[in-house]
Amino acid sequence: MKVEKVMVIGAGQMGSGIAQVCAQAGYQVVLNDLKSEFVERGLSVIGKNLSRNVEKGRMTDAQKQEVLNRITASTDLNDAGAVDLVIEAAVENMEIKTKLFAELDKIAPQHAILASNTSSLPITEIAAATNRPEQVIGMHFMNPVPVMKLVEIIRGLATADEVYQVIEDMTKTLSKVPVEVNDFPGFVSNRILLPMINEAIFTLYEGVATKEAIDEVMKLGMNHPMGPLTLADFIGLDTCLYIMETLHQGLGDDKYRPCPLLRKYVKAGWLGRKTGRGFYTYE
Ligand code: NAD
Repeated sequence: MKVEKVMVIGAGQMGSGIAQVCAQAGYQVVLNDLKSEFVERGLSVIGKNLSRNVEKGRMTDAQKQEVLNRITASTDLNDAGAVDLVIEAAVENMEIKTKLFAELDKIAPQHAILASNTSSLPITEIAAATNRPEQVIGMHFMNPVPVMKLVEIIRGLATADEVYQVIEDMTKTLSKVPVEVNDFPGFVSNRILLPMINEAIFTLYEGVATKEAIDEVMKLGMNHPMGPLTLADFIGLDTCLYIMETLHQGLGDDKYRPCPLLRKYVKAGWLGRKTGRGFYTYE
């Protein structure tokens, strides 16, 4: 099966990045969100990213326009009726994802593959909401999508080998590096990264050091490009909390319990960069 037309569900941080890299690789892209203002916001982020590429001489203005012309805005899930691949990047919530996949299963053509960009939720459970579990797979892009090379490709229990192969090949056409991972909570990336971020939040909560000091220790001492609290703000504190809850419930070990301070920030609506305030404040 050849992928030509891709639908991306969710035009937030991840969805807009995925739509951008797919359009840059020559795919026709439908970018879908609940409201047209959300799609517009995603398209404006893509426009700004591409303009930066033009300024840096990485592409011409005409190439930028070609990429933008390959992306169509959508607020209607029925647009999935004409695509070969759907990449879902809506919020990290099982109820929302299973509802979306059940609907997509009814709309998308029989041959279409349904992928989720979930950070941690079981692909097998998402797949069980459809009548095509062998055509459901995880495509876990990293943030920011246009910059980061890795895509974790997650096989659900029923994912067919041919489907895995199509997705691995398609990922390479995006100039990304696919890495095969089995379906366990948090996969590899977030099984390791999120407990570290959660521990950094506990370190702040228990008054071991200030947020700046915690980030500085991890940057200068461990050579991390970004401190864990800055990174948490970048990922989104709601997404961090969802992932910790998935690890806690899915693996049943209290070492994964989310820090109360993380819960408090999310309840306050301090979700990090995307809301202008998290551990730090942003213009
Ligand atoms: P985000 O909050 O920036 O964007 C989510 C978007 O999905 C919003 O625009 C929202 O309106 C839209 N949405 C919600 N329900 C929808 C529906 N039913 N139909 C269509 N659109 C819907 O979140 P994000 O950071 O882009 O995360 C999206 C997904 O990607 C999550 O599953 C997350 O775990 C995963 N992910 C996030 C990161 C990260 O660093 N933020 C990294 C890898 C994967």
